[in-house]
Amino acid sequence: LRIGVPKETVALEKRVATVPDVVEKLVKLGFSVAVESGAGDAANFSDETYRSAGAEIVPTAAALWSTSDIVFKVRPPSPEEVGLLREGATLIGFVWPAQNPELMQQLAARKVTVLAIDALPRQLSRAQKMDALTSMAGVSGYRAVIEAANAFGRFFNGQITAAGKIPPAKVFVAGAGVAGLAAIGTAANLGAIVRANDTRAEVADQVVSLGGEFVKVDYEEEGSGGGGYAKVMSEGFQQAQREMYAKQAKESDIIITTALIPGKPAPKLITAEMVQSMKPGSVIVDMAGEQGGNCELTEPGQAVVKHGVTIIGYTDLVSRLAKQSSTLYSNNLLRLAEELCKTKDGVIHVNMDDDAIRGLTVIKDGAITWPAPPIKMA
Ligand code: NAD
Repeated sequence: LRIGVPKETVALEKRVATVPDVVEKLVKLGFSVAVESGAGDAANFSDETYRSAGAEIVPTAAALWSTSDIVFKVRPPSPEEVGLLREGATLIGFVWPAQNPELMQQLAARKVTVLAIDALPRQLSRAQKMDALTSMAGVSGYRAVIEAANAFGRFFNGQITAAGKIPPAKVFVAGAGVAGLAAIGTAANLGAIVRANDTRAEVADQVVSLGGEFVKVDYEEEGSGGGGYAKVMSEGFQQAQREMYAKQAKESDIIITTALIPGKPAPKLITAEMVQSMKPGSVIVDMAGEQGGNCELTEPGQAVVKHGVTIIGYTDLVSRLAKQSSTLYSNNLLRLAEELCKTKDGVIHVNMDDDAIRGLTVIKDGAITWPAPPIKMA
């Protein structure tokens, strides 16, 4: 079968779903690979490198989509792209079925099969190699620290030099999921003093293992909402959390917020008053911008200075590291392709008896199969 890799069309999106190294591996699995001309440009992969890896370069999106049996994408397709998808084809990429009911209907009407990488059952250890949410969150957490360091006027690490003694920067990370843990590790590696908080107590050990200190909210309430995700906390907890965060804001040079609750707006953790209490020159990177932000003063997509504090709400952190994120994402899709093509003959088999494959199959031959039934863990 022929795998097609179109150029991404969403503004600011610089990733590409397949990098040249992965093209070679897909060819070894028996597929032919076509790449739209310029698809990898923004991530620094030229048409020439794709050609050398064994891909055919196709001049237009229309030619690419209409001749592909399988399309590898990053972002959910636009209505125009859906219109180009050929009947019976398989689309693999981010889809977000809960947020995109109309797109799901349009795709189903095309009589295609859709594997949504965001619907992967992440709790299966077998699925980890395909977990693009995790790999992308890792990239954004790293990049958030780099953005903070770029906007911050001082070193992260403490230094004793002939020109003076410099204290280490103090970083506070709100939310220690995948992105938060990546931010903690990166900031600690740069030499900062890192503290972090999460409503799920189970992450405390992970924070410590990455070189951070876990700061607890002085209020007994378990924050797990099932499946490793968070829940909305009680008003009492939120009040106690605000008091603790107010103290951290005053003491911190940099705050990185990553807190999300599935299906809910991002919790507001950093108030305008807390921003005002921070030292001039401090930096907040709010990674929850797309879900409304964790900080009251965040402007999603923008970097703004308020009360002397730079508040970064970029929503394209992964695209700011496009070569790295494309490489990791395309490795996730390669692992999925291997699962779908165990026979290594360039043919895919969507096995609905396999929990991992069942979970991410959101449309099968035009029939909506999302949401998948819950998995019974042994
Ligand atoms: P996420 O992006 O949904 O949320 C980020 C973090 O914000 C979470 O840790 C959450 O607890 C925290 N948070 C939510 N509300 C908060 C609040 N009010 N205050 C402070 N923190 C708050 O989460 P994610 O990073 O996608 O993943 C969450 C978890 O899923 C991971 O930590 C991991 O344990 C689990 N996971 C498991 C597997 C696996 O089992 N193989 C794979 C991937 C992820």
